[in-house]
Amino acid sequence: MSKKFYITTPIYYVNARPHIGHAYTTIACDTIARRQRLLGAETFFLTGTDEHGQKIERAAEAAGKTPQQYADEISAEFKALWKRMGISNDDFIRTTEARHEKRVQELFRKLRDNGFIYKGTYTGQYCVSDELYVDGAQPGDPCPTCGRITETVHEENYFFKLSAFQDKLLELYKNPEFIRPEARRNEVISFVKSGLRDQSISRSTFSWGIPVPDDPKHIIYVWFDALANYITAIGYGSSHAGAQEAFKKFWPADVQMIGKEIVRFHCVYWPAFLMAAGLPLPKAIVAHGWLLFEESKMSKSRGNIVRTETILDVLGADALRYFLLREVVFGQDGSFSFDALVQRYNSDLANGLGNLASRTLTMINRYFKGEVPDPSQASKTAAEDAIAESACRTIREFGTHFDQFQFSRALESAWSLIAAVDKYIVENEPWALGEKQDETSRTRLGTVLYTAAEALRIATVLAYPVMPDATARIWLQLGQGDIKKVDLVNLAWGQLPPGTKLGEVQPVFPRADKSAVERMQRMEEEQRGATVEVQGSDTAKQASAPIPAANTAANGKISIDDFTKVELRVGLVKVAERVPKSDKLLRLEVDIGTEVRQILAGIAEAYAPETLVGRKVVIVANLAPRKLRGLESNGMIVAASLEGDKPVLAGFLEDVPIGARLK
Ligand SMILES: [Zn+2]
Repeated sequence: MSKKFYITTPIYYVNARPHIGHAYTTIACDTIARRQRLLGAETFFLTGTDEHGQKIERAAEAAGKTPQQYADEISAEFKALWKRMGISNDDFIRTTEARHEKRVQELFRKLRDNGFIYKGTYTGQYCVSDELYVDGAQPGDPCPTCGRITETVHEENYFFKLSAFQDKLLELYKNPEFIRPEARRNEVISFVKSGLRDQSISRSTFSWGIPVPDDPKHIIYVWFDALANYITAIGYGSSHAGAQEAFKKFWPADVQMIGKEIVRFHCVYWPAFLMAAGLPLPKAIVAHGWLLFEESKMSKSRGNIVRTETILDVLGADALRYFLLREVVFGQDGSFSFDALVQRYNSDLANGLGNLASRTLTMINRYFKGEVPDPSQASKTAAEDAIAESACRTIREFGTHFDQFQFSRALESAWSLIAAVDKYIVENEPWALGEKQDETSRTRLGTVLYTAAEALRIATVLAYPVMPDATARIWLQLGQGDIKKVDLVNLAWGQLPPGTKLGEVQPVFPRADKSAVERMQRMEEEQRGATVEVQGSDTAKQASAPIPAANTAANGKISIDDFTKVELRVGLVKVAERVPKSDKLLRLEVDIGTEVRQILAGIAEAYAPETLVGRKVVIVANLAPRKLRGLESNGMIVAASLEGDKPVLAGFLEDVPIGARLK
């Protein structure tokens, strides 16, 4: 009977377009899934999108769309990107699909029947941005996760008896494999030890979600809904026999990969929900760190998002996959830069694997008419034994590191084999042997080129899960057919049959020159300029970005296109305070529906801060951020500017929703 392997990415929240942070998680899972398939496991790899919640409802409203339209668009972008990147997921679940909704209700019902869900009243603080109940916070307190001001909610809710699971969870964490890495595990243990309170798991003040079964004025808390995807996608709660069988076969998951910011949801709530339902628990929750760009976490509000498409256009998916897994120590934060990407690409791929493939295969073409030579026993020396030994060691080490999620070390060991073979080629000078006509030189040449080709074959198989496209091409050049059919369990030295006919030899990793970095930077800058939703945090960069030719008419008037470049939105002032040592400046936190912005406004002489809280204002939402008195201002408040008099804020006579756009 073959082994099964079930791996999941978190499902991505559709409030943001896909960027390389999402790609990173998905690539890591894809790599693991591909290796498992080569190892012969029946593998199921799940990803998808998380589409409910108040944040989506508000973002859709601000964009003038229905939540479903809004979710459809972003979800389709994720799907298209994974397709373009060759991600090998077996399913893509959307939480707005009927199959998911029905099964989530089944799970809710099960927990209620088992006595773990009861009705009560919740009064407290809620962060809409994180869809998070903030225990113990007071009105006006910021969210501990994102710093935005929490909202007070007072609702009749359904509660989950999380408090009943404290001891069972602590018992579970004794297994060091359950939460990785160690630092995250310790964090979770101390959180749970500090005491667990029952958790509200329904909302009733908005409607974008799955109705509570038998009580449809409540909707199920978005995190309960989202976490359930890992079981609903493979058939939990279905009445179909086929789905039930699939669930039995694949659950529990072998690896659930997440980003470190959602550890609590996956390591506390998720196992508690499963325990309450009487279901088995996943074998491992693996948290990776953040990808930092310009030293800070990539996020929409910081505006330092790097789009995956830019890298795909210039260097291709394999280069990105290799870079992220080689450069970042998995589990820790890693930094991303275009310079480092191109450097790695050139040193490890163009000069490393790519060069080994092209020099070895070109010489086999030239000296042996494209047929793998016979490694004659007679001409074997200690140098060949050393390469064979190094290859066997690499196969072992690669597997050990990889299974511990140490992708970087696994790749390091494969590349040390490549370096050893490079050295071997230089020392044995096959090009010199090829010039000689005597039989001894020819036998020796065959041995050297066979050894190089066999080591190339092994390095290529090992690298396949990380770079599926490039390695498949090298595989064909080696005359080996479909790399997906390799039996990785029995991979060993000496399996390349002499006489194998090579395929057409072509360079796989052409060298990238310096302009590659500039091209990628330019593409990102143009994108930032063009997409009003994405705010740039790097003021200098914004200022130096090329300004597109303006459609200015001769009489100084602007076209409608120019006007629509300015994004004016209705915002609600949540916080207002004086900026120390400034007579004119106020620091405001303004909710514009999709997020809360810090904006500095020169209106302190006209308005006392306390009169502004709760007032609706008009802001320019897509103004490049700038720093005033050391504080970042992210937008501008629109006011009438009166000569010699105080400014007057723009407002409305009728009530308007937060986030509404002016046009
Ligand atoms: Zn928050």
